[in-house]
Amino acid sequence: MAQEKDRLICVTCPMGCALEVTHEGPALVEVSGHACRRGIEYARAELADPRRMVATTVRVRGGLHPLVPVGTAAPFPKGRIMELMALLREVELEAPVRAGQVVLADALGTGVDILASRSMPAAD
Ligand code: SF4
Repeated sequence: MAQEKDRLICVTCPMGCALEVTHEGPALVEVSGHACRRGIEYARAELADPRRMVATTVRVRGGLHPLVPVGTAAPFPKGRIMELMALLREVELEAPVRAGQVVLADALGTGVDILASRSMPAAD
């Protein structure tokens, strides 16, 4: 497989180092621009299994507002985010909702839970 070069921003800490990455498909060959070892691990993970935190809203029945913000408890596989969003569009919670409540456990079998980001009281 031919080697390719890409640029990545390490988001592991607020330094945001600009990484230059040489890779063969998903396999890391060389990385530069990292200020610490965690940049190498970030580049390796980003090539092999890119993940992102996901935030959106889901519907709430009987709540003070019709939607509540939710988010992934851990970074979610990037290639399956559209599938996750479609699934969350079908979710409807029952008020009240408390912050941190599991909205969807083990989303799409990834082991990542979706949690409510804030509480939503019931409408009086
Ligand atoms: S390479 Fe190290 S210092 Fe740079 S952003 Fe990543 S974790 Fe932070």
